[in-house]
Amino acid sequence: MKKVKARWVSETEGMFGANVFGFAAMRRCLSVAAMRHLEGAAASGERLDAETAEAVAEAVREWALKRGATHYAHVFYPLNGQTAEKHDSLFAPTAEGKLVSAFSGKCLAGGESDGSSFPSGGLRTTFEARGVMGWDVRCPPYLVVNPDDPADVVLAIPSVFATAAGEALDEKTPLARSGRALAQQAQRVLSLLGVREGSVFANAGVEQEYFLIDRAFVRQRPDLAICGRTLLGARPPKGQEFADQYFGAIPERVKAYMLDFERELWRLGIAAQTRHNEAAPSQYEFVPCFDRDFMASDHNHVIMQVMQRVAEQHGLTCLLHEKPFAGVNGSGKHVNWSVHTGKRNLFKGGASPSENAPFLVFTAALVRAVHRYARLLRAVVAGAGNDHRLGAHEAPPAIISIFLGESLTTLFERLAMGEAAEPSGYDDRNRTSPFAYTGNKFEFRTVGASQSVSAPLTVLNTILAESLDVAAGALEKELGGGGATAAKRLQAARVVAGAFYRDHKAIVFNGDGYSESWKAEAKARGLPEIADSVEAYAAFNAPEHLALFEQYGVMSAREVNGRAEVYQDRYVKQIATESAVCLEMAEQQALPAIYRYQGDLAATAAALRTIGEKAHTGQLHKATALARTLEDTVESLRDIIGHRPDADTLPRQGAYCRDRVLPAMLAVRHAADAIETVVAENLWPLPKYREILFIQ
Ligand code: ADP
Ligand code: MG
Repeated sequence: MKKVKARWVSETEGMFGANVFGFAAMRRCLSVAAMRHLEGAAASGERLDAETAEAVAEAVREWALKRGATHYAHVFYPLNGQTAEKHDSLFAPTAEGKLVSAFSGKCLAGGESDGSSFPSGGLRTTFEARGVMGWDVRCPPYLVVNPDDPADVVLAIPSVFATAAGEALDEKTPLARSGRALAQQAQRVLSLLGVREGSVFANAGVEQEYFLIDRAFVRQRPDLAICGRTLLGARPPKGQEFADQYFGAIPERVKAYMLDFERELWRLGIAAQTRHNEAAPSQYEFVPCFDRDFMASDHNHVIMQVMQRVAEQHGLTCLLHEKPFAGVNGSGKHVNWSVHTGKRNLFKGGASPSENAPFLVFTAALVRAVHRYARLLRAVVAGAGNDHRLGAHEAPPAIISIFLGESLTTLFERLAMGEAAEPSGYDDRNRTSPFAYTGNKFEFRTVGASQSVSAPLTVLNTILAESLDVAAGALEKELGGGGATAAKRLQAARVVAGAFYRDHKAIVFNGDGYSESWKAEAKARGLPEIADSVEAYAAFNAPEHLALFEQYGVMSAREVNGRAEVYQDRYVKQIATESAVCLEMAEQQALPAIYRYQGDLAATAAALRTIGEKAHTGQLHKATALARTLEDTVESLRDIIGHRPDADTLPRQGAYCRDRVLPAMLAVRHAADAIETVVAENLWPLPKYREILFIQ
């Protein structure tokens, strides 16, 4: 092929990663010894020594000052799912009253956050309220430049966040630990199979779905502004039934927005790969190129922030909620995940039989892992938002299963019967599976659009590590002591993979995951269906999961329990907020609208009578009945909110939200939506679905 230098590439060359101080840039500034220490710390997860930290800080400081940075900020990801940052000045005054730049190795390596405003689930008692941030040396510092003010430049330092005693207060730390557990168990299996190809790590590519709507609509709707989803809103005359949106032409205004945020991501070293319309009106997807699991997770946080900020600049709002609009698709985050050595992808079949041993063992180990830990995989994607999405409108069901496709299934069936089968390509996609093999990776589709992918990736790494641990034991038994030939190793791999598959094939399902018959079949197979977050949270810190995380050094029981508490607390608070907004909108917007409409109708009837005309009061009676229903549902919601068991345990509060508050909110919604479709257009105070979703 002729080499062509695309104009776009030459114009943007030097722009990719321009705002990142990556390993390549560091290598140019640091001594060989310092670089070796840095890379060593990145690989081992150990602390960077003071001398190297000083050298790196010096290089980072020079780079950042040249580019106009005024502050530095440790950026971390606390358990509330947000991105947190604390800015410190890069300058300090001297005794002579001059300003000098002050950024030492200590500044780079760590910081402290006072106060206990970040949720810790009891990990941090009030007398030990400090949270300690530490630079995650695997992730290079970068600059956040304000596009509206080039003088506003902040040096961001990707960090972990823990208690002074080292307990994780973030999602990033367990992900790092799970990566090490996975690498360790994978190495055991690989070395038994005679494969020595350097370090083992997981890659992830995260597909981000979102809605993009005009910001003016958000300003007029308290539910969208405060909760990120509509709590009221009648169905529009047209939804997504024509399937005319998916992969359709992207509207110009939306494309301008996409180009803008992609350029910004490009400078941050995040390569855009795919963009397209999604199935619902005003729904889109953005996909960056895959990266190491921890980078992909950090980048996804950055992507969400940049997407939301740039939308504001375009007079738009980017909604990341899992279900902003009832009756059309919700938004998910498909996590593509694979495990690699320096030389190969372990989820990709090899060219020759002898190269296939690792593929067989790793894939079968994953089947076992998903079967054993289906409840944990479901629990880790729980959330008030995702509850509205899972199991509805083209979203994965709340039952975890794994799609392998016909050829891979046949291969494992044959291995399970003791035959020496080989992979023979792979099949078409299955869009309905929550966990699908797609040729060289698995795609976990149950994650919600607003969620951090750190916790789901942590679970994937950990459950695979556990199965590989068992696989290593089984391989050792098969191989016995002493040297093994390649043929013997392949045979052992087939036996172990076949046995795993035989014992765990109940989790494999290649059919339509959206069908009702699957629900019944899954039940017959003994697969758990966890319908909502309250149930899911209870499963999250079940004893077998505490033991799993502890055994592989991923999280202590205290850390897991702390998380479960934070998640449940968030669920309860989210529904408390939603119910308050719902009540306010019903009372202050929907009810006045129907009263005014009743007044208009009554006045018209009275006026008609004064001129001797017969008044038709059918519509007035209808309006009166609708108003009554809304009044009743509002009263009932108010009563239910008022009786919330405040001092009760979190699981009980969660159950109350699920069983009492949410149904009462839904009753209000039905009543208000009926009114929306009846009252005069000019009396309805809220933008309607047909406006929000179809005016671009
Ligand atoms: P789709 O699933 O929509 O066809 P792709 O398969 O091309 O899209 O990619 C979806 C995401 O998966 C992208 O982020 C891509 O970079 C990522 N991806 C591709 N190969 C791998 C891999 N081996 N491991 C992890 N992610 C990958
Ligand atoms: Mg995909």
